[in-house]
Amino acid sequence: MTDIIIVGAGTAGLTAAIYAQRAGKSVMLFEGTAVGGQIINTPDVENYPGIAHTSGFEFANALFEQAKSFGAEIRYEAVKEIRDEGAVKKVLTGSGEYEAKAVILATGAKNRPLGLAREQDLIGHGISYCATCDGMFYRGKDVAVAGGGNTALEDALFLTNFCRHVYLIHRRDAFRGDEKNVSLLKAKENVEFVLNANVTSILGDDKVEGVEVTDKFSGEKRELPVSGFFIAVGQMPANEAFSGIVTLDDKGYISAGESCETGTAGIFTAGDCRTKEVRQLTTAASDGAVAALAAAKYVESLAE
Ligand code: NAP
Repeated sequence: MTDIIIVGAGTAGLTAAIYAQRAGKSVMLFEGTAVGGQIINTPDVENYPGIAHTSGFEFANALFEQAKSFGAEIRYEAVKEIRDEGAVKKVLTGSGEYEAKAVILATGAKNRPLGLAREQDLIGHGISYCATCDGMFYRGKDVAVAGGGNTALEDALFLTNFCRHVYLIHRRDAFRGDEKNVSLLKAKENVEFVLNANVTSILGDDKVEGVEVTDKFSGEKRELPVSGFFIAVGQMPANEAFSGIVTLDDKGYISAGESCETGTAGIFTAGDCRTKEVRQLTTAASDGAVAALAAAKYVESLAE
């Protein structure tokens, strides 16, 4: 039986893998999509202590290699269910059943959709949730970004480097993201801020040909002719599979405080998937360390 199973190989899960193994525990790490988590979509990271500048992809890759170097077993399987049988936790994926003494849920969060008609159908045909991944397809073209957080600001900044014109659409006139990013964008000549506006429809049949925005106050509608529409309106958790084993808050995040304890003995949580105020790379890494050390202590307590 593995000592600790970690669900999710983003920053929190990979950090937990490092700390758990350094505490002498065997670790199995499950990842259902891509290793690295959300940070792989961030072009520039310059707020991680001790690293002046890196890309999200480079950061995730280095962290993955570091976790592997301690011997973690990685399984590319989505965890569908966890059964709490006291001292044994059963982890079920589509391909198998695994046993651990403790589990750390580090499932992160997924992109929040805007909920527009045909939004899902047009993914890959002009709609994208990842400027770093798909931006290059729109070289020399006009694009729009929706959102007012750091992701939207950084996506817009990234796209200004090679797109002809970038509309940044935000539902308010104040940004949630850092002032530094706003200032950098304001200095760009090919950015147009469309504020106090909501995207009300996607134009085009088989591919995006534009977006319709509606002014929040006047109700006036305007069509922006773009071939790419990047949606960056935050994240939402994906913890439904675990609602029977841990408590979720009203937004679907796993209820746990800074101790990363879920209230279910032997089940811990770390990173963006848990209830918290600040969701940053540093707080995900911090949670990974806290959860791993708590899980290691719990595993040791079983032997007493
Ligand atoms: P976020 O900070 O939660 O911002 C989401 C933005 O989308 C907000 O401006 C919000 O508007 C808007 N929004 C939400 N729902 C909407 C809707 N239905 N229609 C229109 N607009 C909507 O999300 P994020 O930008 O993805 O960032 C998540 C976390 O990661 C943040 O803590 C952020 O600082 C961090 N992050 C850090 C870096 C970095 O440090 N390099 C890079 C990227 C992200 P309102 O403001 O009106 O609510």
